[in-house]
Amino acid sequence: MKIGVLAIQGDFAEHIAMLKRLGVETCEVRLAVQLDNLDGLIIPGGESTTIGKLATDYDMLEPLRVFGKEHAVWGTCAGAIFLSKDVRRAQPLLGLMDISVARNAFGRQVDSFEADLDIPELGEGRPYHAVFIRAPIIETVSGEAKVLSTLPDGRIVAAQQAKMLATSFHPELTDDIRFH
Ligand code: GLN
Repeated sequence: MKIGVLAIQGDFAEHIAMLKRLGVETCEVRLAVQLDNLDGLIIPGGESTTIGKLATDYDMLEPLRVFGKEHAVWGTCAGAIFLSKDVRRAQPLLGLMDISVARNAFGRQVDSFEADLDIPELGEGRPYHAVFIRAPIIETVSGEAKVLSTLPDGRIVAAQQAKMLATSFHPELTDDIRFH
């Protein structure tokens, strides 16, 4: 299995380190041709407007959409925003997942936080310690998409749609390998 990490902006290095730790073959992806021969792709956290703008400049939007229709794609934080269909403002999105997202839903950078989540699909019964950095909320999940996890107040922070995964938080910044 070979899993690429979109490496045009954001914390792609942390995802690569996690995949290497798991013994998964991986590479940094900056050009459409680098999607060839990948089984899946991770879109890291960072700044979704920047990722979208650079993906547009590098002619990556359409190749990423085509790739995501056939392969596993996981977006963390800004990556989840980029995967979504709607963020209620104009910015380039892949629109692959039937989710709408509210950016910076918890406030500014200083309002970043960590929380223990209940994510039954991860198994093992222990909570998942999640890191939220100027994170989005997944406001609506429709069509084929389903909710994977919420905060105790019910706000959605992880969703899955077939082979696609969106998390508001950053598993690559923890020692917990279960998401990867
Ligand atoms: N606030 C960023 C955005 O709106 C996401 C932050 C992150 O990826 N940690 O794109």
